[in-house]
Amino acid sequence: MTRITVAKGDGIGPEIMDATLDIIKAAGAKIEIDEIEVGEKVYLGGNTSGIAKESWDVIRRNKVFLKAPITTPQGGGYKSLNVTTRKFLGLYANIRPCMSLHPFVETKHPVMDIVIVRENEEDLYAGIEHQQTDEVVQCLKLISRPGCEKIVRYAFEYARTYGRKKVTCFTKDNIMKQTDGLFHQVFDEIAVEYPEIQNEHWIIDIGAAKMADTPEAFDVIVMPNLYGDVLSDVAAQIAGSVGLAGSANIGEECAMFEAIHGSAPRRAGQNMANPSGLLQGAIQMLAHIGQTDVAEKVQNAWLKTIEDGIHTYDIYKEGTSKQKVGTREFAQAVISNLGNKPSLLKAVSYDKNSTLNLVKYQPKAPKNKELQGVDLFVHWNKRNPEELASIVEKINTEGVGLSMITNRGIKVYPDGFPETFCTDHWRCRFKAKDGGLITKKDIIQLLQRAHEHQIDVIKTENLYAFDGKAGYSLGQGQ
Ligand code: NAD
Repeated sequence: MTRITVAKGDGIGPEIMDATLDIIKAAGAKIEIDEIEVGEKVYLGGNTSGIAKESWDVIRRNKVFLKAPITTPQGGGYKSLNVTTRKFLGLYANIRPCMSLHPFVETKHPVMDIVIVRENEEDLYAGIEHQQTDEVVQCLKLISRPGCEKIVRYAFEYARTYGRKKVTCFTKDNIMKQTDGLFHQVFDEIAVEYPEIQNEHWIIDIGAAKMADTPEAFDVIVMPNLYGDVLSDVAAQIAGSVGLAGSANIGEECAMFEAIHGSAPRRAGQNMANPSGLLQGAIQMLAHIGQTDVAEKVQNAWLKTIEDGIHTYDIYKEGTSKQKVGTREFAQAVISNLGNKPSLLKAVSYDKNSTLNLVKYQPKAPKNKELQGVDLFVHWNKRNPEELASIVEKINTEGVGLSMITNRGIKVYPDGFPETFCTDHWRCRFKAKDGGLITKKDIIQLLQRAHEHQIDVIKTENLYAFDGKAGYSLGQGQ
């Protein structure tokens, strides 16, 4: 028996949750349920995070959370419960299988069967943003080695456990050589440990185009947070329907399972909604808690029901579908099919001992870190880089001098182009005049002198090399 936490959510949530629980219980799921309240009522009761403190205790105690969609009330000040849950519980992996059900559900891609593995905690979603000048705001893109190792390993372990043949990595490391570069590098390192699984890397733009056009070319795809957010919706949509996909959010301790769609308030209380998305989440949950036999039974019964043409309104199509049913009737049809397998769609079979072997992150020995220079970011309203250089060079010290200025990453001094458009946000790079290293004291001196010359430094970034390899980008055009 596994004790799980259940939240029935808002809108169509209670109906699809009841249907889902009825099906998995009928299939023999060994679960005990603690129900908590999250969502609209909790928000409107004055709790801006949509969940009470006592509910967190239940979620953390049970570690497995099946959540129906919730309604986030209109108006500012309400925090997204999903984002909060992922972050608080360290749910680093978002797993979304997207499979077409051709010819029973309409799709342009009859043989699509891919799993998007999205990093769920870092990247631009760290939410660290600053306005630095009148014209420029910034969002920090943070990518960590533990973050990359955990998600890439998860993707390969998932592939191994579920008999998948290939893991593809999507990044934009031709542009973001440090951040996406690290993700790609870790992918290459970990791929070596899984020789039986093919691996490949695509630049995200052409990779995404290929996925949307020829999804049958892909199997498991792993990617950083933002790309994964966008492409997992694309994948679900082109598979046939966002209403059919579920997702798992997995952490080292806890996990949350859900449908990917929202609470569809206009359909609430009418016994119309399709419970398939939440059911797909619940099937992932059953596999996660080791009840793979039940997961398999439910998935095959669900596939058979879809194949029988018993469809809710959202996927019902004259000619293909046989019977338009409501939420409860659909659940009943799945229950009647328990023990049956689809004949045209591919039946699933999960290995009984399929647990993912997720080794804990091993911190690496620290590298030799050398300070090679510093970037001072300056707010300056005029537009002439040569003039700025002549001002900024006044703060050069005996050993450290201005080597370059960029504007939005493009080198504008020395030897810039007059055509380059400049904003009020300038990066002034200082390095040792003899090409050697600088010290923190040099930086303090530069800042002191900048202050004396009324130069508006809005932030600094140290330029480090790790084991002799520069850990910072050059100016574009440098
Ligand atoms: P939605 O996913 O609720 O609905 C989009 C469309 O799909 C609607 O036409 C709806 O009727 C239909 N639909 C969705 N699920 C369906 C199902 N199971 N069966 C049949 N039809 C279905 O998205 P929305 O309308 O943009 O958002 C409604 C609310 O849901 C908002 O308050 C939003 O914040 C919330 N939301 C919650 C979650 C979540 O809790 N994970 C996710 C997305 C949106």
